[in-house]
Amino acid sequence: MPAVESLPVYEVYALRYATRAARRAEHFVGGDPHDADMPMDYFTWVVKSATRAFIVDTGFTAAMATRRRRTYLRCPVDSLEFLGLKAESIEDVILTHLHYDHVGNFARFPSARFHLQERELHYATGRNMKYPFFAHGFEVEEVIGIVRLNYAGRVELHSGTVDLAPGLTLHPAPGHTAGLQVVRIHTRRGWLVLASDSMHFFENMTSDRPFTVGYHLGEMVEAFRTVEKLAASPDHIIPGHDPLVMQLYRAPSPELEGVCVRLDADPVRPAPASPHFRR
Ligand SMILES: [Zn+2]
Repeated sequence: MPAVESLPVYEVYALRYATRAARRAEHFVGGDPHDADMPMDYFTWVVKSATRAFIVDTGFTAAMATRRRRTYLRCPVDSLEFLGLKAESIEDVILTHLHYDHVGNFARFPSARFHLQERELHYATGRNMKYPFFAHGFEVEEVIGIVRLNYAGRVELHSGTVDLAPGLTLHPAPGHTAGLQVVRIHTRRGWLVLASDSMHFFENMTSDRPFTVGYHLGEMVEAFRTVEKLAASPDHIIPGHDPLVMQLYRAPSPELEGVCVRLDADPVRPAPASPHFRR
């Protein structure tokens, strides 16, 4: 293990590409006593060092937005140009899981290897998929697309924690899906965790109430604790769908307001924290 001081520091960005109106009761198992709006944003993430770039999840297409009635803001793959990147040149794509809002657009990365937990591929092709409750978040053609990529030698199926690069590790945090992984990144402000859908909103974690779509409720709550152990502070946890992320972090330039925020810079105010966090 290299000393922390010798690790590269990565820039980390969230790209917001879609949104949908929703109510609070839709986001917590057991509902919610407050009858209020709670919209949901959709993101992909970019991790960059001086020499390498990693894309974390690939979002969905405009056609999928229409089909699933989401409000599409812009294609996240096209947004890469804002950060000086081209999808064709990206060599590593990390897939936190295989739900449609995280894996659509995979075909736009012709040079990439895709990093996925093996258990997620088993889940997405396994016995639970005959039940609409579990299958609904997947698109069968996309799952088949990943199987094809695997046959083409372009999928790295990981089992457990992985050192993908110095200062960049992948960690299983299952529950929402069986093989969901989160990404831990060494940044100039310490260890940041892209928690993806281990928590859709900060409030899932801070109130220990899992999101309404999941594979295993007990593991979903354990995943909150896993993420807390990996992050340097509550301000280093980035949930998968919380519009608050766009308010807590600043756009890298004024033109990117509402589109992109920089996560390796300090938040403008403290992020919501759970009572379980231990430094
Ligand atoms: Zn999602």
